[in-house]
Amino acid sequence: MSDNEMSYKIKINGISIGPGERKLVNLRIARLPTHTDIDLPVHVFRGLKKGPVLLLTAGLHGDEVNGIEIVRRMISDNMLRPVAGTILAMPIVNVYGFLQNARYLPDGKDLNRSFPGSRQGSLARRVAWNLMNHVVPLADVGVDFHTGGASLHNHPHIRCVMSIPRNRELAKAFAPECVMNAKMIDKSFRKAAHKIGKHHHPPAWQCLAPEPIIAPLIPIFSAAVRGSGPAIPAFTGVA
Ligand SMILES: [Zn+2]
Repeated sequence: MSDNEMSYKIKINGISIGPGERKLVNLRIARLPTHTDIDLPVHVFRGLKKGPVLLLTAGLHGDEVNGIEIVRRMISDNMLRPVAGTILAMPIVNVYGFLQNARYLPDGKDLNRSFPGSRQGSLARRVAWNLMNHVVPLADVGVDFHTGGASLHNHPHIRCVMSIPRNRELAKAFAPECVMNAKMIDKSFRKAAHKIGKHHHPPAWQCLAPEPIIAPLIPIFSAAVRGSGPAIPAFTGVA
């Protein structure tokens, strides 16, 4: 079975999403002492034609709200309408941190140093496990949004491993002012995604998007997923 045919059948946590459908799938992470369930939402947008699967993640660090807003706005403004392929959008991965405006989980764990996670471990490890087991295996390409957060200031840039040609191609597609050759850190999302990737599968790469580049990024993504914008080779199948 080709990768395209595999991508054609999308099923997350037992829920099937057919061609042309748009669905919200929740992954149950844990329950608060008040019996309030904490879910990890995955927005799924499928085109009618077969194609690659693009995963957009933000908010692995709960105080890095710019990426969260980028993905949220792409969803609410109805920008994610692939003709072919599928887009999986997760605007807030670290739900706990976001609720507390904190980088880490309430137990002090850094989600981006807790991969690949475990089913019954700390909250961070559970979130990581759900992401790695239910979502990442479906994706062909991943973009993980980060920002400086509350205590850091970063110039807008793309981080990836430049020795991987596919990574370089994807990074350049955004025409960023700078691309940082960033090695994969142990227990990070990027490294975990790389480890389970298919041989041609680029690891998830990340985009640091401080406030000033929110606006420019949205039309780039919007045009890319519709195939009407500047050539973004890796995304043409999603258009
Ligand atoms: Zn971050």
